Amino acid sequence: MACVVQKFGGTSVGNADRIKHVAERVVRTADEGRSVCVVVSAMGNATDELIELAARVSTRPHPRELDMLLTAGERIAMALLSMAIAELGREAISFTGSQAGILTDTAHGRARITEVRAHRVEEALQQGKIAIVAGFQGVSPEAHVTTLGRGGSDTTAVALAATLVAEACEIYTDVEGVYTADPRIVPLARKLNVLSHVEMLELSAAGARVLMVRAVEYARNYGIPIHVRSSFTDAPGTWVKKETETMEKAIISGIAHDSSEAKVTITGVPDRPGIAAQLFRTLATEGINVDMIVQNVASEGNTDISFTVPRGDLDSAEPVIDAVAKQIGARKVATDPDVAKISLVGAGMRTHPGVAAQMFETLAEAGINIEIISTSSIRISCVVRGDKIERAVRAVHDAFRLSEEFILEEVPSTSARDTG
Ligand code: ADP
Ligand code: ASP
Ligand code: MG
Repeated sequence: MACVVQKFGGTSVGNADRIKHVAERVVRTADEGRSVCVVVSAMGNATDELIELAARVSTRPHPRELDMLLTAGERIAMALLSMAIAELGREAISFTGSQAGILTDTAHGRARITEVRAHRVEEALQQGKIAIVAGFQGVSPEAHVTTLGRGGSDTTAVALAATLVAEACEIYTDVEGVYTADPRIVPLARKLNVLSHVEMLELSAAGARVLMVRAVEYARNYGIPIHVRSSFTDAPGTWVKKETETMEKAIISGIAHDSSEAKVTITGVPDRPGIAAQLFRTLATEGINVDMIVQNVASEGNTDISFTVPRGDLDSAEPVIDAVAKQIGARKVATDPDVAKISLVGAGMRTHPGVAAQMFETLAEAGINIEIISTSSIRISCVVRGDKIERAVRAVHDAFRLSEEFILEEVPSTSARDTG
C-alpha cells in the first residue's frame, strides 16, 4: 500500500480545534487507502515556553535535562492527535522518537540521526493503524533522550519517509509553500511551484526556516520529494525535489535572511602560516559552528579576521575565542550581536554574470553597508546591520523583480535537436 508521511508544525497543532482539524485531514488521507505516518511538532510556542521555564530555574541548564524537558512538547501533541483521530473512528497509536526507533548521536540539542529502526511504526501501519511520531527527538547510544535542533521535526519526517519508502513527505505549515522570500517580510513574495533539493538546501542553510536544513540534506541524499503546503487550505504548495533537465531554472529562486548570528572580529592577528588553522581548529573542537569568515589583507605583519557564529553560542564561544586569541598573539577580540545576513540563491547564477554586482548596488542605493560577503556557486550572502535586514530583503526582492513570474533559462530541447 502506498505510504505517505505528513508532518504538522507548531501552528498547525496550536490548539485543540487545530488538532481536530489535523485529525480530519489525516483520516481523509487514510480513507483514500494510503498508509499514513504522521509527525508532529509541539503545540504553538510550547518549545520556546519550555526553554524560558528552564532559564528560570537554571543559568546553564544541563543539556541532557533540557532535552528531556523539550521532548515533552511533542509528546503532548502526539497523544492529543492520536485521541482526536480515535474520536473520528480510526485507530491511531503514538510513539516517542525513541519508541519510533529514531537513533541519534550524543550531541544534546543538535543531535544527528544515525539510523532509523522503525519496526514498531511499520507494524502499526501494517495493522492499518495511523502511526503518530513525536518530531524533533531521538535516543542516543547511551539511551539518553536527544533533540535534533530547532525545526527538527522536519528532519524526523524526512528520515521516516526514507525508511518507510514513502511516496512523498508532506510538510504542513502556516504558509502555502516556499516563497521567493519570507512572506511575513515581503508581502509580495511569490510562491514557488517547484525547486531542487540543492536550491532549497542553500535557502535553508541561509536561514529560510520553512524547512530545516538537515531535513533537506536528508531528502537530497535519499531522493525524497518534499511537498511544503498549508495545513489550513487544500491548495498545492511547493515541491522540493531532485533537479531534472527539464525543471524550470530560475536565475534567482529566492532570498533568505538570518538574524540569529553574531559577528566576531579579532584584530592584530600575526600574519603567518598556521594561525587561521589554529584558531578555527580550536573553535571546531569546542563544537562552535563558524559560518562566514573574512580575513583582511595584512599590513605590517598583522591582519584582522572576522567571522560569524550562532548568537546563542556567543556566551560559550567568548572565553574560547579570548583564550585562543591570546595564544596566537592577537591584539583584541570584539563581538557584535547586532548583525543579520541576507542571501540571494539561484541555480541560474552559475551562468549569469552580474548578479552579485546588482545585489551590492541595490544595498548601496538603500544606504545599507555590507560588512562581510561570502558566495557559493549558487548563493551570495552579505552581513549587514541587524536593524536594516528587513529593508535589505525588500530592496533586493524588488530589484530582482522576484514577484514576477520565472525568468527562464533556455533548456536545450532534445526533440528540437533530433529533428533539427
Ligand atoms: P512550522 O512550525 O510549521 O515548522 P516554521 O515557523 O518553522 O513553521 O516555518 C514556517 C515559517 O517560515 C513561515 O511562517 C515563514 O514566516 C518562514 N519563512 C522564512 N522564509 C520563508 C520562505 N522563503 N518561504 C516560506 N516561508 C518562509
Ligand atoms: N518544536 C521544535 C521547535 O520548536 C521542533 C519543531 O517544531 O520542528 O523547534
Ligand atoms: Mg519548522
